[in-house]
Amino acid sequence: ERKAALAASTGPGATSDGHKVPLLANIGGPADVAAALAAGAEGVGLFRTEFLFLDDSAKAPSQAKQVAAYRQVLEAFPEGRVVVRVLDAGADKPLDFLTPGNEPNPALGVRGLRTLLDHPEVLRTQLSALAEASAGLPVYLEVMAPMVADRQDAKAFADACREAGLHAKFGVMVEIPSAALRARSVLQEVEFVSLGTNDLAQYTYAADRQVGAVSRYQDPWQPALLDLVALAAEAAKAEGKSCGVCGEAASDPLLACVLTGLGVTSLSMGAASIPYVRATLAKYTLAQCERAAAAARATDGADEARRAAHGVLSGE
Ligand code: PEP
Ligand code: MG
Repeated sequence: ERKAALAASTGPGATSDGHKVPLLANIGGPADVAAALAAGAEGVGLFRTEFLFLDDSAKAPSQAKQVAAYRQVLEAFPEGRVVVRVLDAGADKPLDFLTPGNEPNPALGVRGLRTLLDHPEVLRTQLSALAEASAGLPVYLEVMAPMVADRQDAKAFADACREAGLHAKFGVMVEIPSAALRARSVLQEVEFVSLGTNDLAQYTYAADRQVGAVSRYQDPWQPALLDLVALAAEAAKAEGKSCGVCGEAASDPLLACVLTGLGVTSLSMGAASIPYVRATLAKYTLAQCERAAAAARATDGADEARRAAHGVLSGE
């Protein structure tokens, strides 16, 4: 039965009453494109570009090398959407030549956009490579920055994109609580936000995502995390802009319904999860998803939130 449901699961992501929720793939490079296409991904919602930087621990890859990799990905999604995230170095993804080695709290230190603002030449090369790779292609390129805390960060990134002559939509990840709390202010500078629920959970619960002893706080069903998702989604709606999710949360079919109910406009996940999320989303109306979201937020813990949403959606 499960197999049949998955086989029937094709086409764009939508609720049973036709509310569209594009289902996009998280990829690490050209090697992941085939699986994304096979799963029917409507595009790429998170292209983690870190992989390109892993070959050489002493310097950034050349512009030409980056252009080749970006072009391979962009060409695979003609007319589709591809959201490329600029380098997210530091904390759980340190790079020798960029990441300070002496920070007492690397997750709270120089990482993500902060690293790039300290090394503007690295950001410049990456944005120029994206401009070159996308030139003349019909793809709908979006570029976003990781670890954005406030409007000033968002403006610095948007300025760098404009200076690089990039014809793309510029956005930022919301993975720091300050950015979720002031999403309307951040959205004055950029066209979209994408919630990184992995880091957002880490920073909301003050629980290092790499420390197993505090892993219970990393559960994306935590109500405080759902509250921040709701805030960001409401802000984006008020600004007439989009608010996706590209963290692990999007790959849980039940939670995907809750996120949709909270107002999230697209979901990006590992390709293997797409058929399951598509099939589950197709079973419920938007109103049911909204009721499940409200029920989950009315609880005081992750397990309770999961049970509450399940109860609403299974008609208990
Ligand atoms: C996130 O933090 O949720 C995210 C998508 O980015 P990464 O896991 O690469 O930090
Ligand atoms: Mg992150």
